Amino acid sequence: MTHWGYEGPQAPEHWGSLDPAFSVCSTGREQSPIDLTGAEREALSEIGFEYAPSPICIQNNGHSIQVDYQAGSGIVLDGTRYGLVQFHFHHRSEHSVDGADFPLELHLVHEDAEGALAVVGVFLEEGRANEALAPVWRRLPAEAGPAALVAGMVDANALLPERRTTWRYRGSLTTPPCSEGVSWLMMTEPVTASREQIEAFGALFPVNNRPVQPLNGRRLVTDAG
Ligand SMILES: [Zn+2]
Repeated sequence: MTHWGYEGPQAPEHWGSLDPAFSVCSTGREQSPIDLTGAEREALSEIGFEYAPSPICIQNNGHSIQVDYQAGSGIVLDGTRYGLVQFHFHHRSEHSVDGADFPLELHLVHEDAEGALAVVGVFLEEGRANEALAPVWRRLPAEAGPAALVAGMVDANALLPERRTTWRYRGSLTTPPCSEGVSWLMMTEPVTASREQIEAFGALFPVNNRPVQPLNGRRLVTDAG
């Protein structure tokens, strides 16, 4: 696979020309992330979270720390079930809120039976240590390599904020090949991570966030008051 990154000749502004398979990164009109601002308020369907704890299959894939989630967990969105495939993190956040970013952003990646993706995004702000992250953070692989099963369990439920209000829009993968048709569900309430937790991730990935992309007339909606 074509090498890509966040700095120099492989930085996000060049992704679209690094490989023909990445062209939508530059030609796409529904790209992610975006600045979350000016959302229309409306009543949104409830997201059914059906998460169970999972063994920790962790990988430094060279672009982020990814935890592959045991099959069986997922969400139900507007009558469609999406299985939770994996979660990973960006430093700093990829989405912003009225132009302001956060130290970290969590992406819980879900896929339905047809291969359509729905990503639940959670901002992490500096504060109390995040106990749900601790079992993963204990074993952050410093070097890129294959996925490995490590001791302990992780509970995706505990990674979510208490309030489940969201911003929603149609977007894309934020990494090559930047494929569109992704349902984005960004939690409006952040969770916390300690300064030490943020710094531990930042030491491994000083920059792994794509800049915000134009909305291009897409609808951005929220049920947050
Ligand atoms: Zn991501």
